[in-house]
Amino acid sequence: MRGKCDFCGRGEREVALLISGASAHICDDCVMQAYRVIVEQGMADGRGPRQGRGGKAAGRRQKKVPKPQQIKAFLDQYVIGQDEAKKFLSVAVYNHYKRLEQGDAAGRAPHEEPLRGCRAAGDDDVDIEKSNILMVGATGTGKTLLARTIARLLDVPFCIVDATVFTEAGYVGEDVESILSRLLQVADYDVEWAEKGIVFIDEIDKTAKAVDNPSITRDVGGEGVQQSMLKLLEGTDVNVPPKGGRKHPDQDYVKVNTRNILFICGGAFDGIERRIAQRLNTHVVGYGAVEQSRRVDRENIMKYIQPQDLKAFGLIPELIGRLPVLTHLDALDRDALMRILTEPRGSIIRQYEKLFRLDGIELSFDEDALSFIVDKAMEYKLGARGLRSIVESIMVDAMFEMPSGRKKSLTISRDYALGKIEKGNLEKLRA
Ligand code: ADP
Repeated sequence: MRGKCDFCGRGEREVALLISGASAHICDDCVMQAYRVIVEQGMADGRGPRQGRGGKAAGRRQKKVPKPQQIKAFLDQYVIGQDEAKKFLSVAVYNHYKRLEQGDAAGRAPHEEPLRGCRAAGDDDVDIEKSNILMVGATGTGKTLLARTIARLLDVPFCIVDATVFTEAGYVGEDVESILSRLLQVADYDVEWAEKGIVFIDEIDKTAKAVDNPSITRDVGGEGVQQSMLKLLEGTDVNVPPKGGRKHPDQDYVKVNTRNILFICGGAFDGIERRIAQRLNTHVVGYGAVEQSRRVDRENIMKYIQPQDLKAFGLIPELIGRLPVLTHLDALDRDALMRILTEPRGSIIRQYEKLFRLDGIELSFDEDALSFIVDKAMEYKLGARGLRSIVESIMVDAMFEMPSGRKKSLTISRDYALGKIEKGNLEKLRA
């Protein structure tokens, strides 16, 4: 039996090719036309349409959320130490996603009201509030790395924004809403997908109002910015300029609901140790005081941080209230720096070894050389960030010369490292 295309109705003789399925035929012209429709819908890469409720988020269900201990074990592979921060993050992220899953299970977005009569008996009317996170720790101690690693595990849109670029509406700078423009971009403009994302707001401490130094000029980047962040952190519909920057009357906006977006804030809060110490001292009076003060770990005052210290630093109480999970990162000591240099998957040393291996060169480091690098990083007071600059300046000559040479192995000794450092211009790194 001669077939005909079930889409356009043309017979086998009228078309160049007729493809047969189980109970239907399609001609080459109709295949091409169908393909064009698929491309127009942005689905040609097999990831689902770009926009809207039926978008990527619907097709691409979030991975099963790992348990807090699994999350921490994953973080352990990439981030050295910082056990407390890891624990707090793991629990907060786990709870956050459990909450999202619940919303999905009910077949509705979690912020939508359940249908009348659909509410099951029991604790279904208990609203689990979200727990945004505040991580306090000196620069280069791993705040961004932690947030990035968590996002990698969960496979959700993730972006980093810097709080210092925001100013109050009406001033030069970016509106706070542009935080969400970045998230939309990484989510490929799939609104529903972006609404499940994680935003890392770095340098939140820079929005603190100057407590010790009351100024008569307006506080453009400070309290006003904190105020405008409140709604965003809590959960609201925000009109987002998709291209970021300033809101503009002629621009089209995309409405994004932030209720399920997890906000992780980070900041160094330079000088907050002094306030913590002051608080500890004022509290440590009277009976048992001597014993208690002896127990205070002076080397790592940050671990005693409390919300009231943030207030004393200049964060407004409303903002502190919207960041209920408060955790700290430890300062990195010599031991931690050594581990960071060599242990994590993707550690700096492993990266260089791999780079050389790609050229067929076996690279190794003597123990003494590693100690030397760590000592220098301590000396320059750059935390883990300094490690890379130091290794880079030790390796740059070899990376330049060896790919064209015959030597197939290189061992970095302490003397070799010292020679390169002295030759290089590393003194500028000294804090
Ligand atoms: P922060 O956000 O606290 O200023 P980052 O997370 O950006 O610091 O850290 C800077 C770099 O230092 C990271 O890319 C990472 O390589 C390294 N690093 C910092 N802390 C750690 C850590 N605890 N474990 C492993 N690497 C770390």
